[in-house]
Amino acid sequence: MDLNYTAEDVIFRKQVRAWLEQNMPRQIRNLDERKAWHRRLYEAGYLGMGWPKEYGGQGARPMEQAIVADEMARAGAPAPTNSLGVGIVGPTIVVHGTDAQKRRYLRKILTAEEMWCQLYSEPNAGSDLAALRTAAEDKGDHFLVNGQKIWTSGGAIADWGLLLARTDPSVAKHKGISCFLMNMRQPGVDVRPLKQITGSSEFCEVFMTNARVEKDNQIGRLGEGWGIAQTTLGYERGGRALARITTYASQYKQLMDAARRLKRNGRPILDDAVTRQKLGRIWTDLEVERYGALRVLTMLERGEHPGAGGSLTKLSYSEFEKRFMELAEEILGPYGQLTDGVPAEYRLEVDTAVGDHGTWAYAFLWSRAGTIYAGSSEIQKNVIGERILGLPKESRADRVGGTR
Ligand SMILES: Cc1cc2nc3c(=O)[nH]c(=O)nc-3n(C[C@H](O)[C@H](O)[C@H](O)COP(=O)(O)OP(=O)(O)OC[C@H]3O[C@@H](n4cnc5c(N)ncnc54)[C@H](O)[C@@H]3O)c2cc1C
Repeated sequence: MDLNYTAEDVIFRKQVRAWLEQNMPRQIRNLDERKAWHRRLYEAGYLGMGWPKEYGGQGARPMEQAIVADEMARAGAPAPTNSLGVGIVGPTIVVHGTDAQKRRYLRKILTAEEMWCQLYSEPNAGSDLAALRTAAEDKGDHFLVNGQKIWTSGGAIADWGLLLARTDPSVAKHKGISCFLMNMRQPGVDVRPLKQITGSSEFCEVFMTNARVEKDNQIGRLGEGWGIAQTTLGYERGGRALARITTYASQYKQLMDAARRLKRNGRPILDDAVTRQKLGRIWTDLEVERYGALRVLTMLERGEHPGAGGSLTKLSYSEFEKRFMELAEEILGPYGQLTDGVPAEYRLEVDTAVGDHGTWAYAFLWSRAGTIYAGSSEIQKNVIGERILGLPKESRADRVGGTR
């Protein structure tokens, strides 16, 4: 693991910090303002940094991407929008798209002129994604899509969706899946927002009834959808790993301040030895997370693939976040449950771009999500057990489903 920054990295970090000081908006009030901020980041060269230059990227190294994300977290900068477009759809098109698809779609993802969602999960196909049933039927010059997706983040504001659909029901389930770019703004696509425990509705159900996908919006060859989904899901992995730690560290500092200020039984909570021990444990965990992030980043810099090792980082940070937020609730008491009228000293100064923010209550409820999306904790444990520790594979009888 390389713990040192090069001289160029240090200079680059200073440039990013200076740019953020001059350009960062104080507050984002609506989607238009978030799109405008997104565009400013793009124009400064800080979005889609790893993409090829001819399609609007910078061809930047993983470390440069990590530095930008880290400086944004340090400054508490608002998150850009179109995160699935930039993080998953764009890279998928870069790797597997035709030249025409790259020219048509990539730049508009980076400018947020076209918003994207990811149409993978279905009511009975989450961890066992290969069981998906949405069908795309070949009609000569186009496909007709029928079926239902669920947990579609950003579905309500998306113009386009990256779709996995079954094109051949007669072959093994992984082999009959294909990948498409689907226009969300057409009569056959019905998007219904789902209200979440946090109170916001980033998720949607998407119903497709004779929705149309043009032939030139097929990605890769027919039946290659499973492989495409696998190779591109982790394309920009690692870029945010350090930034996540910086965000946790800022939240930790805010929690420490609250523990000094708040009293229990007439004394500051921080005087309590058990609470101090718990805070110490969280800080130690956070340092472990930091080294985990640097390990992934070092591998990416060397052009290596973290492979199943990515499951270690994912499992570790998402379970850590839950422990951290549980302790925050314990320390903050009623202040940790307020969603409105929170006094300034008990607000959480972190922008997440996923609905409401600024409250510990929201962060606590949201902390469950990391242990579910992009492969649940149990799935990550299966991957670690089988591919890293060499344990026996899950037997069919044990199996709830296949794995993402
Ligand atoms: C915040 C968030 C955003 C999301 N955004 C999107 C999106 O934009 N697009 C999209 O397509 N999907 C999205 N998802 C869906 C996500 O991919 C699925 O929720 C996830 O894959 C789990 O699938 P599931 O919900 O069907 O749960 P299931 O797969 O039904 O799992 C239920 C439980 O069974 C366990 N389990 C399942 N299989 C096994 C096994 N083999 N061994 C041991 N335990 C097992 C799981 O760990 C879990 O505890 C999002 C989810 C979240 C939380």
